[in-house]
Amino acid sequence: MAVGLAGRDPSGAEVVVIGGGVHGAAAAFHLAERGVDVLLVERDELAGGPTGRSSAICRAYYTNPFLARVARESLDLLGSFSERMGGRDAGHVITGGLFLHGPEDVSAVTEAARALTAIGTTTDVLDVAALSDAFPRFSPDGLGIAAHEHGAGYADPVATTVGLAHRARELGARLRQYTAVTRLEEGRGERPHRVTLSDGVVIEAQRILLAAGPWTGALARHVGAELPLTIERHFVATFAWGGATAVPHVFADVTQGYYAKPEASGGFLCGPLTPEPEIDDPEAFEQRILDAEVEHLAAGIVRRVPDLERIAPRGGWASLYDVSPDWQPVIGEIAPRVFVDAGTSGHGFKLAPGLGREVAALVMGSPDPGLSDFAPGRFAADAPLTAGYGQSRILG
Ligand SMILES: Cc1cc2nc3c(=O)[nH]c(=O)nc-3n(C[C@H](O)[C@H](O)[C@H](O)COP(=O)(O)OP(=O)(O)OC[C@H]3O[C@@H](n4cnc5c(N)ncnc54)[C@H](O)[C@@H]3O)c2cc1C
Repeated sequence: MAVGLAGRDPSGAEVVVIGGGVHGAAAAFHLAERGVDVLLVERDELAGGPTGRSSAICRAYYTNPFLARVARESLDLLGSFSERMGGRDAGHVITGGLFLHGPEDVSAVTEAARALTAIGTTTDVLDVAALSDAFPRFSPDGLGIAAHEHGAGYADPVATTVGLAHRARELGARLRQYTAVTRLEEGRGERPHRVTLSDGVVIEAQRILLAAGPWTGALARHVGAELPLTIERHFVATFAWGGATAVPHVFADVTQGYYAKPEASGGFLCGPLTPEPEIDDPEAFEQRILDAEVEHLAAGIVRRVPDLERIAPRGGWASLYDVSPDWQPVIGEIAPRVFVDAGTSGHGFKLAPGLGREVAALVMGSPDPGLSDFAPGRFAADAPLTAGYGQSRILG
C-alpha cells in the first residue's frame, strides 16, 4: 500500500513520529525542515487528543531556565507563524499574563522575573500596592506579589498543530491520520525498527519518536521501557462575562489554584492549576465538566475579581494530562534510536513549537546538553526537577 510521496520508499522512513498532537507535529515540522525523511502517524485526526482540548495559554513565565528559553522560542515562532508555516494562522493572540502569588513566593517570583527579563521575556514584578494601581479590579486579598509577562497570550491549539503538520508535509514529511501504531519491534544493531500500523502496513524506521501523550507509556513497553507517567483528568469551564467588562488578558491565581483566559469567541475559560486525581484508563473517563467543578472555579474568580459576580456558566469539558512525577516533560532515548517526548504535565502546548527543534536534534543525534535534565532516567537517579510554585507545579 502506497503511503508516501513519489520517490520515497513507502515501506520505510528515517524517522517515524507516533502521535499527531502538537508535540508530534512540531517535531515532524522541525525534522522535515532539516531535510529528514519523516512519517507522522496519528490514530485519530491531528490534535484529536488532549491537544485539541487545550486551553493553549502561551507564556514564557517559567522557573526552569531551559523551558523558559524554549517557551520564549515558541512564542517567537507563534509570532511569525504565518511566515514560517506557509501563510497558515495559529490564532495567536498576545494579551499579557498576570500571575498572582501569595507572600511565600515573593523572593522566587522576583528572581524568576529578573531571569526572564534578562532573556527577553519582559516580566514586571508588582507588589500589592502596584498591583492595585495597575489592575484595580483584582482584589489583593491573600496576595504578596504579582508578575506581569507582557508577551503572554493564547493560540488556537488545532490550527497550530495542523499548521505545523501541513507545513511539515510541504517540506516532504508524510502524514497518516486515522491510523494507529499497533506494534513496535526494536531493531538491534544496524537493523531498522519495525512499526506496524492498524491497516497492516509495516514501516521500517531508523529512528522512532513516541509523542503519544497519555498513550506513550503503553507504547514504550513495546521496547521494554517503563516510563513513570500517570494520567489525570483535567477540566475547563467556560463563562460569559454576564454584562461585566471583559478581563482582556490571561491571569493565574496561584493562591486559589486556577488560571483564566479570554476566549477569541467571547467570554472566558478557566481551569485548575493544581493536581487532580489520577485515572487508570485514558479511554474511559468523564469528558463532561461537573456542576461542582464549575461552581468551584466561578467562586474563585469572583473572589479575585468581584465585579465578575454575574458571570454565566456556558459549559466546559474535561480531557487528560500525561503527568510526570516532577511535572516537567520527559524527553530522551528509551531504547537505542527510540525516543520519547511526553509527560508534559498540562503545560506542554506552548512549549511544543520551540521544543520540537530540540527534540528533532535529539532524535538526529545532536541534542542540546540542557535537554539531558529531562531524561526519563532522572527519577531512578533521584534527580527530579523543581517546577513552578508549591502545588502549582504546572507553572514549570
Ligand atoms: C484541558 C487542558 C488544558 C490545557 N491547557 C494548556 C495551556 O493553557 N497551555 C499549555 O501550554 N498547555 C496546556 N495543556 C497541555 C497541553 O495541551 C499538552 O501538554 C499538549 O497538548 C500535549 O501534546 P502532545 O502532542 O504531547 O500529546 P497529545 O495531545 O496527547 O497527542 C498525542 C496523540 O497521539 C495519538 N496516539 C495515541 N496513541 C497512538 C497510536 N498508538 N498510534 C498513533 N497515534 C496515537 C493520540 O490520538 C493523540 O492525538 C492543557 C491540556 C488540557 C487537557
